[in-house]
Amino acid sequence: MIEGKCLCGRIQYAVEGDIGEVSHCHCSMCQRIHGAAFGTYGAVPRENFRWLSGSDLVQVYQSSASMDRTFCSVCGSTLQAILNTEPDVLYLALGTINGDPKCRPSFHIFVGSKAPWYEITDDLPQHETWSYTE
Ligand SMILES: [Zn+2]
Ligand SMILES: [Zn+2]
Repeated sequence: MIEGKCLCGRIQYAVEGDIGEVSHCHCSMCQRIHGAAFGTYGAVPRENFRWLSGSDLVQVYQSSASMDRTFCSVCGSTLQAILNTEPDVLYLALGTINGDPKCRPSFHIFVGSKAPWYEITDDLPQHETWSYTE
């Protein structure tokens, strides 16, 4: 069982099973919402995710027509990115997991909008936008 929490600790969650593919997302929205060069998210089947506490403090921000992002209304921690085009999966902000999530990044996405002040120095695959082609 993987568990995690926001910075203030009021919101806690649990994930059953393993985290799926992990991506570093370099899109401009992830840069802003994380205040960092990129956001790192792990894919989790929605049915495997549950709030343990503080679910009433979870706020939703719709960052684009297809994406909702959740965060703690007290401390502001980013928690999830949820695509309404993918009803079975959610993307969990990996930095909120307690301890070692036992998964490692698979690739970079949206490198087309990468921060000019950050250089990717690993050998993971880089995708201009999404990791799949439509
Ligand atoms: Zn919090
Ligand atoms: Zn992004």
